[in-house]
Amino acid sequence: MKPHYGCCHPIQCILPPHVVDAIKMRGDADQRKMAEALAKQATEIREEREEATPPDSFMGAPVLAMGVAPAVSREVYDGGRRASLPGTLVRSEGEDPVDDPVVNQVYDLTGDVYNLYLDVYRRNSLDGQGLLIVSTVHHRRRYNNAFWNGSQMAYGDGDGTLFQTFVEASVVGHELSHGVVQYSGGLAYKDQAGALNESFADVFGSLSKQYALRQTAAEADWLIGQGILGPDVHGLALRSMKAPGTAYEDTVLGKDPQPYHMDFYLNTSSDNGGVHINSGIPNHAFYLLSQYLGGYAWEKAGQIWYDTMQVINNPLATFNNWADKTVEVARERFGARSMEVAFTRRAWKLVGVDL
Ligand SMILES: [Zn+2]
Repeated sequence: MKPHYGCCHPIQCILPPHVVDAIKMRGDADQRKMAEALAKQATEIREEREEATPPDSFMGAPVLAMGVAPAVSREVYDGGRRASLPGTLVRSEGEDPVDDPVVNQVYDLTGDVYNLYLDVYRRNSLDGQGLLIVSTVHHRRRYNNAFWNGSQMAYGDGDGTLFQTFVEASVVGHELSHGVVQYSGGLAYKDQAGALNESFADVFGSLSKQYALRQTAAEADWLIGQGILGPDVHGLALRSMKAPGTAYEDTVLGKDPQPYHMDFYLNTSSDNGGVHINSGIPNHAFYLLSQYLGGYAWEKAGQIWYDTMQVINNPLATFNNWADKTVEVARERFGARSMEVAFTRRAWKLVGVDL
């Protein structure tokens, strides 16, 4: 049995601490108050999350059971703009759409993420065993965040100024992919392992959207949270895998701090060692590999990243450990002299990760 790191599982929110800190510093009085509350709530949810039990042991990639047709299983709850979870059940699996479009959006986007993992990687839900996916919409009042708390998703509506929604394809895919990491042996949410955890969530968040829209690597926007920023904010999204560091530049939110190369790696004690910042480096490596390979990014680049998560079995993996493993799994799947292996090496080299 491998050790697990249940003691230090933090909450995985879409809104990184550096954005909350920027609002605390630069926002108006209301926004500063909101940011203080967000920071406080993050601590409370972190405590809840610590109680959620991670899997005791990791047995490798889950395989589909023979003779049993895998099927998605969803429940969407209305949080009633209150803090308690999950709230009131408003739509279960197979039921018709309801009047609230936000409920239907979450239901559909959750299905898109499920379909990516099942169709492409033969994984039946987050745990590989058909786990029921529980989501709560309208969580708290004017709440500027979305999170996976270890057992369910919750989405705020946004305050309408800085953020207009948190129900967006790459955000849903990002948060649910934290569940996949959790059930795949996990990556500690700290330093480089934490940045790899964040990056895996971004990669598969973006791939969920690309797969639903059937976009090629060249057509995709490679943005995380496109369209969630409010009307007054100067920016496109929370993060850009194509050009880390350029997603937003705003008087209140500050500037996107993500590096795209090891030369700009940020050594910091905040944000669990910069997990939402340094994730720009592996994000960009994935983007580069996808561009080199062309076509649909989920087919080859996504398969390499997915396989790596299933076999690395190292919750404290560094960027180097992860990069080495991507080359190894590419070699196994595509052959030692394949262009997939050559391009994987080249992508890591271009972001300054030595192999
Ligand atoms: Zn995250």
